[in-house]
Amino acid sequence: MDFKINILRVMPIGIEINRKCEICGVVFRVKYLDTRYCSGKCSKVALKRKRDAEAREARLDEVATSIPDIREYISVKEAVAMFNIERGTLYRLIRIGRIPAVNIGVHLTRIKRSDLESMFAKRPEAREEKNKPVPKLYSLEPEDCYTIGEICEKYHIHDSSVWSHVRKYSIPSRQIGNYVYVPKKEIDELYKSDV
Ligand SMILES: [Zn+2]
Repeated sequence: MDFKINILRVMPIGIEINRKCEICGVVFRVKYLDTRYCSGKCSKVALKRKRDAEAREARLDEVATSIPDIREYISVKEAVAMFNIERGTLYRLIRIGRIPAVNIGVHLTRIKRSDLESMFAKRPEAREEKNKPVPKLYSLEPEDCYTIGEICEKYHIHDSSVWSHVRKYSIPSRQIGNYVYVPKKEIDELYKSDV
């Protein structure tokens, strides 16, 4: 009984999990299973990067919508705003002759819009595609699953914690007889420790 109380006191995780900070790469002990950054400083950097990326998207959208539909030739800047292609890649493809371009002066490269249309997705469509959640495939066959008891044993974690994580992170489960089965892959991913 005492054991149970002790475990509950060290929630939310109750086990030592170390992860690599997605910003600075330092390995740190996480407090919560979905912690991604080692410090407030790194969280701020991550937030700033996200905001900067959004601002860039908004600027590109503005350029793209300002191009008249009837205009056949567009600049590199406009091409980058309209299509899912980076500036450097575009210049390289022009240089090797993969994309025909005309030079109407210094820094005045023009590309035929229809040439790009046949090669690249429109940027907003590509963005939507990228942000679409990838459907996860789960196997709930017992051989691909742990029982809740097996998870407690393997990760030295209390069953009430396991249940709360399964609910919180929407991990599917399946009951067969007296046992509840949860996909091994999902659980191992959830409790993995980088060190
Ligand atoms: Zn960090």
